[in-house]
Amino acid sequence: MMGHSHAVSGAMLYAASAPFLPPLLLGVHLAPADILMGTVLCAGAALLPDLDHHDGTIAHFLGPVSKLLCRLVAWISGGHRHATHSLLFVALTGLGSWAGISYLGRNFTLGLTFVLLALAIRALRIHPPGDGPTAWLTIVGMAALGTAGLNRWLPSAPGWLPYAVALGALAHLLGDCLTKQGAPLLWPHRERYEIVLIKRSGNGVETKFLVPVMTVATFALLWFTALAPTVSS
Ligand SMILES: [Zn+2]
Repeated sequence: MMGHSHAVSGAMLYAASAPFLPPLLLGVHLAPADILMGTVLCAGAALLPDLDHHDGTIAHFLGPVSKLLCRLVAWISGGHRHATHSLLFVALTGLGSWAGISYLGRNFTLGLTFVLLALAIRALRIHPPGDGPTAWLTIVGMAALGTAGLNRWLPSAPGWLPYAVALGALAHLLGDCLTKQGAPLLWPHRERYEIVLIKRSGNGVETKFLVPVMTVATFALLWFTALAPTVSS
């Protein structure tokens, strides 16, 4: 599955679950602004499991820096689609971002927001094409501007942010389970889980069917949960 599809699936899952799951799991009702911010950041978080892929969207998003990071993660986690493609990783991303937000404070929250925004911009292709310095410098600039903008609306300890991070990672795993080789959800148990709908990454089923359907669904869900004039804030 391509990075773009993963990002769209993360956005859709967040938009779909925002009215129901956060009240159930976190005991908070999300305001429209939280739903919109979370949807974009969850799209970025949906790339995180591919930190173990030296040539994926995430490896290219900040040029040589991210490439080196991905090689390091792959080396530690046992190669592509191992530890970072498990439910344990989903739990760790959620727990790690919750701990960072709670104990490291505002700078961590803004740093995390910056990284997720940069990933979302890259994966949703809102930047000049290519992998060169122009592309990733634009991504850095846009993510910095976006983070500065969001700084006004981000609450001091947004409970929905760790939720968005974990949900994005989970969306990624579900997406990879639709492809050959699946994902070792119960890692360190080695078994891989898959229901192969997408036989080749970037094929018609993925780009001409799944992505358009998920995109329309995301906008429709956002309309009803955050954008419609009848939604109270
Ligand atoms: Zn993956």
